[in-house]
Amino acid sequence: MVSGPTGVPRETVRDGSDRKPDRYGLIVGGAEVEGGGGWTEVRSPADGEVLALAARADEADVERAVRAARQAFERRGWARRSGRERARLLLAVAERIEAREEEIARLEALNCGKPIRDARAQVRKAAACFAYYAGLAEKIWGRTAPPVDGVFLVTVREPVGVCAGILPWNSPFIMAAYKTAPALAAGNTVVLKPASATPVTAIWLGRLCLEAGLPEGVVNVVSGPGPSVGMALVRHPGVDRVAFTGDDETGQAVMAAAAAGVKRVTLELGGKSPNLVFADADLERAAEGSAWAVYSHAGQRCTARSRLLVEDAVYDEFVAAFVEATGRLRVGHPLDERTDVGPVISESRRQEILGYVAEALDQGAQLLCGGGPPGEPALRRGYYLMPTALAGVRNDMRVAQEEVFGPVVCVMRFRDEGEAIAVANDTRYGLAGTVWTRDVSRAMRVAGALRVGIVSINSVPVTYIEAPFGGMKHSGVGRELGLEGLLEYTEVKTLAIGL
Ligand code: NDP
Repeated sequence: MVSGPTGVPRETVRDGSDRKPDRYGLIVGGAEVEGGGGWTEVRSPADGEVLALAARADEADVERAVRAARQAFERRGWARRSGRERARLLLAVAERIEAREEEIARLEALNCGKPIRDARAQVRKAAACFAYYAGLAEKIWGRTAPPVDGVFLVTVREPVGVCAGILPWNSPFIMAAYKTAPALAAGNTVVLKPASATPVTAIWLGRLCLEAGLPEGVVNVVSGPGPSVGMALVRHPGVDRVAFTGDDETGQAVMAAAAAGVKRVTLELGGKSPNLVFADADLERAAEGSAWAVYSHAGQRCTARSRLLVEDAVYDEFVAAFVEATGRLRVGHPLDERTDVGPVISESRRQEILGYVAEALDQGAQLLCGGGPPGEPALRRGYYLMPTALAGVRNDMRVAQEEVFGPVVCVMRFRDEGEAIAVANDTRYGLAGTVWTRDVSRAMRVAGALRVGIVSINSVPVTYIEAPFGGMKHSGVGRELGLEGLLEYTEVKTLAIGL
């Protein structure tokens, strides 16, 4: 046993002392326990130092976690509790998250490199997500149809069962909330598998769920390697539904494995999202918003607007404003309140990102800014990169087609609306897009023509808990968040009642 449900360490981030790193166990069947695979060092990309030790699950732990979730679902009757009761517990989780906002945010910032201000906003949003789905837990209604041939038809919505949530490393705490709150509101039980690089805040969410009084087995967290622990969950016959966020290729493997058990699957995958700036846009606002849209969290967002398409007539003026706005972004340590752009997740990722830039330059692209690490000696130990813009990119170049997942934007020009839409859609991804224009008709026309799941019009990309989130094409299957996200965690049953 690592610590009890109330054992959230008071001091979870490094304080300069030489005390041992905190240990984060697995959350299985209402307790925090050691894993069969030993302990993994969790490091910070800000300086490479060990931040914590996380338990590594093995397949026996997966078995125990799924069994606990199954029992909580079937025998202990989580699904049969009233919506009001589930709502009360979800609100209790939201309150506990709010109470620990600063500690969770600091840990999240250090573990995944997210600037502390962004990390705080995400922790607040995770709490809001639990509160939002608490509000919906009592409102999951079916429908009725007029009698047909003397039979009265009624639909009811039931929980799917045991839901596995597989998380990426870029926003682990909020992703854990997105995969837990709607599932619980609909009466399901959950087994989370956080990314190996960033398991600690998802484990913390598991602890807070126990503290809030969720019955044992309703929320379980098993950290460990994706190919073994993650795949064991996907294949497990006791798992009814898989919600996956991560890479396109991994998503395909998850979908194929889930198909063998005919499991419900939602996939939130990558993106290569276009950002269209028309000549009639408010160029200053668009420049500022476009810089944030691609460089926030060092470009490590699936919705990063990594292709910047600018109308010919304002190309030079806009690009100058964009480079100026980029220059105002401060690259720095994630715990520094002034930081806008933190490190990327690892040295190997940094090298891959630089590889994309070098290849693009070889193929004729020009560097507008960035292109390497910052010069500050204080940042040498972390995996930092300056926000990078490449001009002269063709849309068929690798840097314009593959998800770089770093602070790199491809700047391209277009002649007219038709060309802008054609280039924007010329990618296998279809997650998000942005349109900057003062012409409402054009905004609606272009938004309608983009083959993506989310369109921002004259606004920076924000994920709204209240609205469905997800992509078309290779960006995924199904939707998270909003009412649609809740319904993805239900099965519809038809009752035919003879009159
Ligand atoms: P990965 O696909 O590498 O990993 C995602 C998760 O899947 C991790 O928990 C990983 O575990 C696990 N995993 C890896 N291999 C398998 C497997 N064979 N079977 C089951 N699970 C497995 O993605 P990243 O963590 O690198 O995340 C970055 C990606 O996520 C980007 O492509 C980004 O676009 C996407 N993303 C999409 C979002 C969206 O909503 N559309 C939001 C955020 C990110 P382990 O860490 O142990 O390898």
